[in-house]
Amino acid sequence: MKTTHVTLSSPSPVTLGTWPTPVEPLPRLAAALGLGQHDLLIKRDDLTGLGGGGNKVRKLEWTVGAAIADGADTLVTTGAPQSNHARLTAAAAARLGIRSVLVFPAAGGRSQSGNLVLDGLLGAHVVWSDAADRAALDAAAAAVCAHLSEQGARPALIPFGGSSAVGALGYVRCGEELSEQVPDLERAVVALGSGGTMAGLVASLGPDRVLGVDTGALDDPLPVVAAFVADLLPEPVRPEQLQMRSDQVGSGYGNLTEAVKSALTVAARTEGIILDPIYTGRAMAGLIAAVEDGSIRPGRTTVFVHTGGLPGLFGHQAAVAYGENSVISGL
Ligand SMILES: *Cc1c(COP(=O)(O)O)cnc(C)c1O
Repeated sequence: MKTTHVTLSSPSPVTLGTWPTPVEPLPRLAAALGLGQHDLLIKRDDLTGLGGGGNKVRKLEWTVGAAIADGADTLVTTGAPQSNHARLTAAAAARLGIRSVLVFPAAGGRSQSGNLVLDGLLGAHVVWSDAADRAALDAAAAAVCAHLSEQGARPALIPFGGSSAVGALGYVRCGEELSEQVPDLERAVVALGSGGTMAGLVASLGPDRVLGVDTGALDDPLPVVAAFVADLLPEPVRPEQLQMRSDQVGSGYGNLTEAVKSALTVAARTEGIILDPIYTGRAMAGLIAAVEDGSIRPGRTTVFVHTGGLPGLFGHQAAVAYGENSVISGL
């Protein structure tokens, strides 16, 4: 068994979630995909507890831990308006009795649905920015922090998607849980967005045992993942050593592809597992494609890492329409 050699020194995390998350078998989905009934398991990181759950809780335990150690009284972060990370940053702030400010691009749509509903309930302050790209959004968040400091607050900027080497420590820990729960794990399949989740799993499980399914959130994700891993391990991992599928991006991050529609329905109808259209639906579509092309084979243990994202489904017009149109009326 490969052991973890995480070198990053960091302040202690705060506890925000409920650990360890369960691992469950997916025998009916495995059979539907042509795998043996014991070949496919699911790591329920949709059930991390806080604020509707999801993978961002693990990363926030470390990034917010560092912020609190610095005396922060306000958490500031950015993302798309349907960001699960922003929702969970708001939940973390609520849990800790501090303030949260979410900086969103107005061009992303202000409709009060999905995650934005929960941001409101959680008491987040939302700042709509006219930023047209990532760099401008980061600059807008920095300006919000400067403004808060002038008012005498102590803001901490939580990185986009919660991803940094510190945030990735949450997924080093998830990899350790997985090693105990599934000693014969051959491959973990996970959505790749801002990169911290995959980086932590790679640092813990090794690059050969982690397949990232790109969601199109970053232009060039592998160097980003490799850079986080380099901060975690004494021996860096080269981007070429990482395993990634890019075949599920479709025409872009927000787009609902046919493969994702099938993944959403097969997971729901064989196992009662709900996936989201942006991340976990793509990860499952990538897993299905990997079974079809023989890179995931029967007789080996594959773990699908469910990273959450359910509120985002209700904020995604095409996914809502697809679900409504899938209703089977009458007998
Ligand atoms: C953010 C997110 C991911 C991707 O995680 P990263 O660490 O950003 O790569 C996967 N699934 C869901 C539901 C997410 O919200």
